[in-house]
Order: sequence, then C-alpha cells, then structure tokens
Amino acid sequence: MKNQSVSFEPPERLHLTKKQQRQIVDHCQAEAPLEACGLLSGRDERVKTVHKMTNVDESEEHYMMEPKEQFEVFKSLRDTDDVVLSIYHSHPETEAYPSPEDKRLAFYPTTVYLIVSLADEKPVFRGFIIDEEDNVTEVPIITT
Ligand SMILES: [Zn+2]
Repeated sequence: MKNQSVSFEPPERLHLTKKQQRQIVDHCQAEAPLEACGLLSGRDERVKTVHKMTNVDESEEHYMMEPKEQFEVFKSLRDTDDVVLSIYHSHPETEAYPSPEDKRLAFYPTTVYLIVSLADEKPVFRGFIIDEEDNVTEVPIITT
C-alpha cells in the first residue's frame, strides 16, 4: 500500500542523526519559552526529514500543529515510500515525559512521540508510543 502516510506498526526504536538532533534542538530553542513542534518523516525507523511546524497554540504548556502545514507534509509524502515516523515537541521547563495533556491528545498509536526537554543545560531526547488507553512505552532514540 503506497498511499499510507503513517506507519502501521509502532517502531521499536528511532534513528536520528546528530545533524537532525541539532536541527530539532535549534528549532526548540528558537521557540522557547513556547513549545515547539514538528514532524519527522522517513522509513524503517530512520528519520530522513525534519519538518518544523507552527505551534498555533503559542503556548508554554501545550502545542497544536498548524493543520495546513501538517497537510502539506502528508501530501509531500504521498508519492514516496516515506511515512511520518514521529511527532516531536519541546518541554521548555519540564522533563521529557508525556504530560496528561500529551497523553489525552495522542491520536496516533503507531507514531513515536518525541519529547525534547530544555529544562537542563543539555537537551534531553526521549521517544514514546502512547496507545489508545494512554499507556506509555518508551522507544529508544538511537543517534546515528
Ligand atoms: Zn508535552
């Protein structure tokens, strides 16, 4: 099936290059103290592209990706073998763990929710699968 833009199976890990991590951290730091958000596309657990999204909530505690930008990403993936592997957002002041709000609004049980905490000097990346019952399973982030 070619037109699927989200992976079917929850990935067991997510590979990110140092450069991609840098891109994500730069984005999160530029938006702080507001939360930043975006999408990561690629395939086979390997991220190829970082897509920065506008947080239309303009909030320090939650995020909502701009729907039109989100749609453009899904559209751009339509004729490729790539899918959205992950949704990332920042926690400018708190730890890299899903908030109750994050769990409530996690609608994609096969997507890695990547959270970047800027609470400490060194940014912390952690990935999670959040299922329909709001169970949280950590997915290792591998730096490649
Ligand atoms: Zn959050």
